[in-house]
Amino acid sequence: METITSVSEMQQRAQAAHAAGQRIAFVPTMGFLHQGHLSLLKEGRKRGDLLVLSIFVNPTQFGQGEDFEDYPRDLRRDSELASSAGVDIIFAPTATEMYPKGYACYVDVERITETLCGASRPGHFRGVTTVVCKLFNIVQPHLALFGNKDFQQLAVIRRMTLDLNLPVEIIGMPIFREVDGLAMSSRNVYLSAEQRWQALALSRALAEGRRLVAAGERDAAAIVSALSGLIAAEPEARIDYIEICHQLSLENQARVDADSVLLLAVFFGKTRLIDNGFLWPDA
Ligand code: AMP
Repeated sequence: METITSVSEMQQRAQAAHAAGQRIAFVPTMGFLHQGHLSLLKEGRKRGDLLVLSIFVNPTQFGQGEDFEDYPRDLRRDSELASSAGVDIIFAPTATEMYPKGYACYVDVERITETLCGASRPGHFRGVTTVVCKLFNIVQPHLALFGNKDFQQLAVIRRMTLDLNLPVEIIGMPIFREVDGLAMSSRNVYLSAEQRWQALALSRALAEGRRLVAAGERDAAAIVSALSGLIAAEPEARIDYIEICHQLSLENQARVDADSVLLLAVFFGKTRLIDNGFLWPDA
C-alpha cells in the first residue's frame, strides 16, 4: 500500500492505471476509520482493480464554531486498517495542497442543498461538492462509494455527478451500525457514556417510525410529532430536525409512501449526530 500526499503524483498514478486498463474504485473519507468506512472499502475492493482511499479533513465543509480543529485524526491507525482492507493507495493531501494560495473555485448544487443539513449548516454542501469534485479530478475513479448514512450528501453528489457529466459511477452503501443500533460515525468518540446511551434514541425513533407506518399511520406530521417526543425525552438531546422526505427530491412529504425517508439530526451535548431510514415495510 502506498500513501500519496501530492496531487500531481496521485494524478500520474491514476493516469497510469487508466492506461493499464485498470478500474479505479474510490472511497473518500475524513479518516478516523470505523467499520462503516471499511464496509465501503470492502465493496470497492470487489469492484475495482485499484482501490484508492482518500483521507482529508476538508476545511471548506466545516462552518465557524464547528469541530474542524477537534475532528479526530489518526493516520497511523487508519493506515493499518486500510492496509488490512486491501487498499492500494491512500491519498492524504494537506489543506494547502488542496487549496493553495489564491484558490477561488467552488461547486454549488442548488435546491437539494438548501434543506435539512444544508439549512442547519450553511455552506457545508458547497464544501463537500467542491472537495469531491476536486478529488474526482485527482483520483479519476471509475466508481466511487458513499454511505447512505449521509443520505442528503449522497443525493447531492449524485446530482453533481449527473449535472456536471462526471464520468464516475456513484454507489450508495447501507448504514453500518453498532450492535445496539447506533450508526457508526467518527464523531461518536465525542459522546460521554451517558450521551452514547441516550443517542440510541435515534435508532429507536427509526424503528418506531417504521412500526407506526406498518400499523397503518400515513400522516407524516403525526409520525414526526410522536418521534420528537421519543427523542426529546432524552435529557441531553436537542433536536435539529426530524423530517420525512421523498428519497430523490428530499422534499417534505405530508403523507408517507414507499419513497419516504425519515431523516434525523440531533445534538447530544455539543455532538451532532445524523441518522435516517426508509419507513415503508420491506423498503
Ligand atoms: P466521513 O469520513 O464521515 O466523511 O465518511 C466517509 C464516507 O463513509 C461517507 O460516504 C459516509 O457516508 C460513509 N459512512 C460514514 N459512516 C458510515 C456508516 N456508519 N455506514 C456506512 N457508511 C458510512
